[in-house]
Amino acid sequence: MFHSSRLVRGAVALGAIGTAFLVQGAFVDEYKSGINWPEPKVIDPGPIGGPPSDATILFDGKDLSKWDGGEKWPIQDGYATSRETGITTKAGFGNCQLHLEWAAPAEVTGEGQGRGNSGVYLMGKYEIQILDSYGNPTYFDGQAGSIYKQHPPLVNACRKPGEWQTYDILFTAPRFDAAGKVQKPAYATVLHNGVVVQNHFELLGGTFYERPPAYEAHPDKAPIHIQFHGNPVRFRNIWIRELAEPVKP
Ligand code: MG
Repeated sequence: MFHSSRLVRGAVALGAIGTAFLVQGAFVDEYKSGINWPEPKVIDPGPIGGPPSDATILFDGKDLSKWDGGEKWPIQDGYATSRETGITTKAGFGNCQLHLEWAAPAEVTGEGQGRGNSGVYLMGKYEIQILDSYGNPTYFDGQAGSIYKQHPPLVNACRKPGEWQTYDILFTAPRFDAAGKVQKPAYATVLHNGVVVQNHFELLGGTFYERPPAYEAHPDKAPIHIQFHGNPVRFRNIWIRELAEPVKP
């Protein structure tokens, strides 16, 4: 505490006037940037778990009409179950905030990569792994919340098989120059059940099964893909917010 209570009372009174403030016993002018920012848009954040009012709903529990292949996944009681094929958004997305909820099968069959495997492929190329990683050892950069074969999750925040889990993914798309060279890499921040498991991780490139990650030039927007990997993984409440490049004053 570096103010006496008498000085703090004085500061509050002066602060209301708005031009000077007592800091460590001396009057100083307040700093404001003076930058003419555009006003942040007012949105309704919606219920906990979303969707906020400015989100694009990709799956509301009723139909997968925004996804190619969606007709293959049965829908009941507000969730869809992966089967037969992956599904791919008809629209393309680049920089985004993506929310989805998933649940591995309650009945445990298989082990390692064979247990509750799916995955979210940002831009169809960069996989955030979905896996039942509750008491299910596998290679660390292949468990739930990993950037598949690039980076393990910071912690294992997996819930039990059958329980609903959330992913909140912030993705910054890579940029390529005219020659196809990486100008800016991709970044991903991932929260698994509200816990940060990837913190602005710089991606090494696209996800491959048989070779190391590598970038291959692509447009600024591309569809999102959800993998079918042989296991009936359930999904619900999928929404996305496209994010603009940072505003420059
Ligand atoms: Mg996978």
